[in-house]
Amino acid sequence: MSAELLKGKPVADAIADEIRSSIARLASLPVPITPGLATVRLGSRSDDIAYERNIIKRAESLGLRAKNLSLPETASQDELLSAISDLARDDSVHGILPFRPMPPHIKGGALKQAIPPEKDIDCIGAPSSASVYDRSLPGFLPCTAEAVIELLRFRKIPLEGANVVVLGRSMVVGRALALLLLDENCTVTVCHSKTRGIEAISSKADILICAMGRARKVTAPYIKTGAAVIDVGINDDGNGGICGDADYESVSQIAGTITPVPGGIGTITNTILIRHAVNACIAAKRKD
Ligand code: NAP
Repeated sequence: MSAELLKGKPVADAIADEIRSSIARLASLPVPITPGLATVRLGSRSDDIAYERNIIKRAESLGLRAKNLSLPETASQDELLSAISDLARDDSVHGILPFRPMPPHIKGGALKQAIPPEKDIDCIGAPSSASVYDRSLPGFLPCTAEAVIELLRFRKIPLEGANVVVLGRSMVVGRALALLLLDENCTVTVCHSKTRGIEAISSKADILICAMGRARKVTAPYIKTGAAVIDVGINDDGNGGICGDADYESVSQIAGTITPVPGGIGTITNTILIRHAVNACIAAKRKD
C-alpha cells in the first residue's frame, strides 16, 4: 500500500481564488483600494532573499501591491524601527512581514512592538499571539499552523474526536497548532525533545503532525496504519534539496495519506500570508 498524497497546491489555489474575489470587490468600491504588503529585510541572507522574491511575486500575481524594504545588516535597531514605523503609518501598506531571525543586535521585543497588531500578518506581536489562545480576540494566526488546518479541512479529514499527535512545541508551529486543533474538537497530545517513548504515542495518532525540523526522523514505527501524516518540516536533504521530518519511503507504506515535502504545507503557507494582508486591508476599510 502507498499513502495518498495530500498536495498543497489545490488548497493554495482555492485560497488564491478567494483572494482574487476579495481584491475584485475592493477594486469595485466607489473609492477603489488595492491591498498592500511590505517585506522588511535586514542584511542579505540568501534564504530571506528567496522568501522575499517568492512572496512579492505571489502577492503581485494575485493583484496586491508589494514593496520590499531592505536595510544593510549593519543598520541600527533605531533605523529599523523608524523604517517600520513609516510602514505602520503608510495607508497603502496593510501587512508588514519582517524576515527573521534578525541579526543579534536587533531585540526581538522591540520588533514585536513596532508592528501594529492590525498589520501583523505573520503573528509576531503579543496581541496576535493572544488570538491563538482566544479566537474571539482580533489577530492573524501563525501562517503555517493555519495552513495545516486549511489542508485538513479542505481534504475533509475528520477532526472531531480525532486523536492528533503534534511532534514539536514551538510557539509558531507545534504549540499554536495544538490550540487550533483543540478548537476543532480533536484530542491533542504534544511531544517534544524530552518526551519519552514518542513512537508508542505517535503510533496511536489518527493524525500525526510532524514539526520538529529533524530530517526523515519519523519512520514506520511512528505511524498508525491508515493515519494522516502532515509533514511541516523543511530540512536540508544533504543533496541540495529539501525534505520533511517524515521518511517518506517508509511512512507512505503505512499511512493512509501524507503531505509531500516540497509541495505540501509550505505551498499553502505563503498564500495564507497574502490572505492575511488582504483581510487586513478589508478590516482597515471597514474602520474608515
Ligand atoms: P523549532 O522552533 O526548532 O521547534 C522544533 C520543535 O521540535 C521543538 O519543540 C523541539 O522540542 C521539537 N523536537 C526537536 N527534535 C525533536 C525530537 N528528536 N523529538 C521530539 N521533538 C523534537 O522549529 P519550528 O520553527 O517549529 O519548525 C519546525 C519545522 O517546521 C522546521 O523544519 C521548519 O523549517 C519547518 N517550518 C515549516 C514551515 C512551512 O511553511 N512548511 C513554516 C515554519 C517552519 P523542544 O521544545 O524540547 O526543543
